[in-house]
Amino acid sequence: MSDVERLKAAIREVPDFPEPGILFKDITPILNDPALFRSAIDIFEARHRNSGITKVAGIDARGFFFAAALCDRMGLGLVPIRKKGKLPFETFEQSYDLEYGSSTLAVHQDAFARNDRVLILDDLLATGGTALASAELIQKADAEVSEINFLVELGFLSGREKLAAYDVFAPILF
Ligand code: AMP
Repeated sequence: MSDVERLKAAIREVPDFPEPGILFKDITPILNDPALFRSAIDIFEARHRNSGITKVAGIDARGFFFAAALCDRMGLGLVPIRKKGKLPFETFEQSYDLEYGSSTLAVHQDAFARNDRVLILDDLLATGGTALASAELIQKADAEVSEINFLVELGFLSGREKLAAYDVFAPILF
């Protein structure tokens, strides 16, 4: 089995969470297994060893796990992209539509320098709305989005189409 196959096999599928009809892809078994978690971070490290990224923006909340480990490994600064109301300092905000209603993401206004090249990282790409709002937030902060990466992509939801303006990478495809 390849590392990617081992990672894929470890993802637990939970039906009807958080609501009926959703098949939730639970990545916590990967976090719980040191060798697997390391192999997930290895994939992103290999991709970005020479990509020129200067910061990693992790998306609230599961993106934080992967972003923090990758930043420690690569010696890069971490920027949390959080749900509105959680960050204490001055923020930029970006609203986006969910299936029902809308949500707002925020980032600290002083999180980026002008010439930062930012990797946006989250655990999973579904419809792409969260990642698109995150990219727009980084542009509001005058930084450049280098790539948007996920550990897992749900291909049948076509989130990549929403992110067509960006370079997208996700090693595990369902
Ligand atoms: P989206 O904006 O539709 O791409 O949703 C992405 C966010 O929702 C990510 O932060 C995912 O962690 C979470 N998410 C959406 N659908 C699922 C799913 N089926 N399994 C696990 N996480 C999901």
